[in-house]
Amino acid sequence: MKFIKQFEDKVIKTIKEYDLISPYDKVLVAYSGGKDSTTTLYLLNKFGFKVEALMINLLMGDYSERHLANAEKFCNKLGIKLNITNIRNELGQSVCYIRSGIQAKNKLSNCLICGTIKRWLLNKKAHELKATKLATGHNLDDESETLLMNLFGGNPKLIISSGPKNGLIKDELFVQRIKPLYFCTNDEVRNYARLMDFPIFDKPCPCRSDSAFRSEIRKDLTKLSDYDPKVKTKLINSFLRLLPDLINNYSSPGKLNYCKLCGEPSRQAFCKKCSLINILKN
Ligand code: AMP
Ligand code: ZN
Repeated sequence: MKFIKQFEDKVIKTIKEYDLISPYDKVLVAYSGGKDSTTTLYLLNKFGFKVEALMINLLMGDYSERHLANAEKFCNKLGIKLNITNIRNELGQSVCYIRSGIQAKNKLSNCLICGTIKRWLLNKKAHELKATKLATGHNLDDESETLLMNLFGGNPKLIISSGPKNGLIKDELFVQRIKPLYFCTNDEVRNYARLMDFPIFDKPCPCRSDSAFRSEIRKDLTKLSDYDPKVKTKLINSFLRLLPDLINNYSSPGKLNYCKLCGEPSRQAFCKKCSLINILKN
């Protein structure tokens, strides 16, 4: 089918053009069980790269159980090693417990707390498993929203690390993150996953609470896309043309620190995850 070939070609082109993976890499795919990371895992395996999957069991009841059951079936069928890490073994509590404890003291959104913990754990597991790349399922819609959020939100420095690969930090404990679906729209990924009949539990996370800011940006981008369907691609391409200059002018070189509590890479004395957990304890 033409769409399937075009979609796969687009992902291969992204990997080649942005030099995301070499034949020597061991790629760990951050596999949530959703359409994006399932597609990423399937394609990297199909293209012949050395891949393993990593699923964080966030212990969110039926939601987590269904993702785990699908993941086991899918990885078994494809012969991919599935690593599962349980949030309670890592942090002593479920993500819901940690979140409500933090929120009793500080008004932070569900997704911000969960995202910070997931990013910390994904990197930690990636270097423990000796992966040289960590692939996530972020797609063009996610990336264009995040780009505008960082610009409008006054965080221009954050956009430097938001290309198809994160190339600024060189540290043996920091595994480079790559986004093979960077140029694929949400609709394209959904269509591909449906045509391929992937086992996906297609329900939003029960704790999802997008910030009002993200929701507004998403609405605006949807409106602009009605006017010009290519607007997200154009936005991302303009950004990528500017990115080398942005990196040259605004990146702060130098080595990373290591978090004084957990030893993971961090720009500050304490990493973002440990700073969050500290809120719980104090
Ligand atoms: P999200 O921030 O939930 O939109 O997820 C972004 C990316 O993070 C996904 O495409 C996955 O690659 C990864 N991810 C999210 N949740 C998990 C999880 N529970 N286990 C492993 N990877 C995850
Ligand atoms: Zn830490």
